[in-house]
Amino acid sequence: MSGSKCSRLSGALLKQLLDSVDCVLFDCDGVIWRGDQAIPGAPEVISLLKKHGKKVFFVTNNSTKTRKMYADKMTALGFGVTEEEVFGTAYCSAVYLKTVLRLEGKVFLIGSNAMKQELEAVGIQQTGVGPDHISGKQIDWANVPLDPEVKVVLVGFDEHFSYMKLNRAMQYLTQQGCLLVGTNKDTKLPLEGGKAIPGTGCLLQAVETAAQRQAQTVGKPNNFMFDCLASQFGVDRNRCLMVGDRLDTDIMLGSNCGLKTLLTLTGVNTVAEAEAHQKSGCAERQRMVPDYYVETIADLLPALQG
Ligand code: PLP
Ligand code: CA
Repeated sequence: MSGSKCSRLSGALLKQLLDSVDCVLFDCDGVIWRGDQAIPGAPEVISLLKKHGKKVFFVTNNSTKTRKMYADKMTALGFGVTEEEVFGTAYCSAVYLKTVLRLEGKVFLIGSNAMKQELEAVGIQQTGVGPDHISGKQIDWANVPLDPEVKVVLVGFDEHFSYMKLNRAMQYLTQQGCLLVGTNKDTKLPLEGGKAIPGTGCLLQAVETAAQRQAQTVGKPNNFMFDCLASQFGVDRNRCLMVGDRLDTDIMLGSNCGLKTLLTLTGVNTVAEAEAHQKSGCAERQRMVPDYYVETIADLLPALQG
């Protein structure tokens, strides 16, 4: 199945691609849903892929939900999915700290309650989650009390991000042996109507700037999320398809892991942007060019229903 990249996927090419894979990885936001609405036809696509014996997984950089919360959301939207099929950055960063870093101590967490729960599920304690409750007191910024057991600063999406948290992260990271880990680097979270809000990457860059060091990141396009699911389910990367709406995270992940890649146009990026990467002559940018594209994943239905 070699040839030109970024081909529109339909007809015989679509059948041929589906026959060549046993496993399909879907990004979530912009691919199977947008916000709180399922992409029309997406639940049918997932259920038919499973009916055809394909393994299906969901890989999301969004760190605000546990696996259980994702499974519940998917069920409410009409998807037949179990928690074990969902690989979000809250879960994956807990697994990363446990299995790759073999963390013995605690985490200073800039992140969500969901991240706290996933950390606790693998036996890791955290400090830091939630809003800062310091009202009207004069703060001695240089002497903020630190927990001596903290060995990692973990940064995910945190709606309570503050100068206080940034300061504490910096104090921990100036201590010998304290590591900096981020869930993901996405700087912009697009909303409906062309609007956007700052993503986790903005918070992570603030901590990196304060601590003057670079974080290790767990989410797409880092291989870890794929390695995590491949090791749990015995997946053959040569027979895997990654479906996503973002070139710099989803398609890059697929390229980094040697998977076939499919861009869907219901989310962030366009075919014109993919073609610009293709024409750039830059090897790094060419890793963001998908093998195929569809308007929506509902375009997979004809090949699955026949
Ligand atoms: N991070 C946060 C906090 C988000 O809300 C989202 C999308 O909703 C993302 C990351 C990107 O998620 P995905 O990888 O599913 O596109
Ligand atoms: Ca997405």
